[in-house]
Amino acid sequence: MPNSPEPSETILILGGTREAADLAREWVAANPEARIITSLAGRTREPAPLAGELRTGGFGGVEGLARYLRETGVTRLIDATHPFARQISANAMEATRIAGVPLDIRTRTPWVRQPGDDWIEVETLEAARDAIPPNARVLLALGSQHISQFAVRDDVHFVVRMIDPPDLPLELPGHALILGRPGDTPAVETMLLIAHSITHIVCRNSGGKAAYAKIEAARELGLLVIMVGRG
Ligand code: NAP
Repeated sequence: MPNSPEPSETILILGGTREAADLAREWVAANPEARIITSLAGRTREPAPLAGELRTGGFGGVEGLARYLRETGVTRLIDATHPFARQISANAMEATRIAGVPLDIRTRTPWVRQPGDDWIEVETLEAARDAIPPNARVLLALGSQHISQFAVRDDVHFVVRMIDPPDLPLELPGHALILGRPGDTPAVETMLLIAHSITHIVCRNSGGKAAYAKIEAARELGLLVIMVGRG
């Protein structure tokens, strides 16, 4: 049996975002001779299907990633991770330096306040928690690891949305849990905000299109957004 030809390029995309999945699809379509590998940390139980190859799980720090780059013959690393995933981005920078592999940084730029946006911008989740007025009804658009910080606000009704059910019950008194991805359109998000009588949104300034519909919906409804910046 003839050996399969060497790939023209081997590209590793550090993913976990919609943009990374889009990139993989574009690269696979445009470069059929290249090997395109997307790497996921493995946090989401059922990630959406991806074009090209998939590998899952941590590399074992900078050294592990540098080793993977060398052993796999990666010719370019693309960092398309979430902008708040800081450790892997720092590791990517150092590992590509060690392995002598070019790094292409494609992390999103933050959202910028638009006319009609009513934002309180804060640096930390603690500051976001403290900025919520008494008796508010808050859409808490954060990962499960950040939720417990809000537990002391037992005067607030929280609506929490997450993709996967949490492993343990959320440490949050009086909350509603919505399982699912963010709505694609402001109309879908507006319906959710109205249905739950939301008065405030707490979220991080992650940028990108995937989670922006709630910001547009808040603008439309005149709701206050407590926006945690990247520090
Ligand atoms: P992080 O704090 O920067 O990374 C922690 C460790 O997880 C890294 O040191 C690495 O382990 C492993 N890791 C992270 N991303 C990886 C990837 N794409 N492939 C392989 N290993 C990865 O990251 P995080 O904030 O936990 O985010 C994890 C993943 O979820 C990222 O891929 C990110 O794009 C996605 N995500 C994050 C957020 C968020 O709010 N942070 C939101 C949406 C999606 P080793 O050191 O062992 O290599």
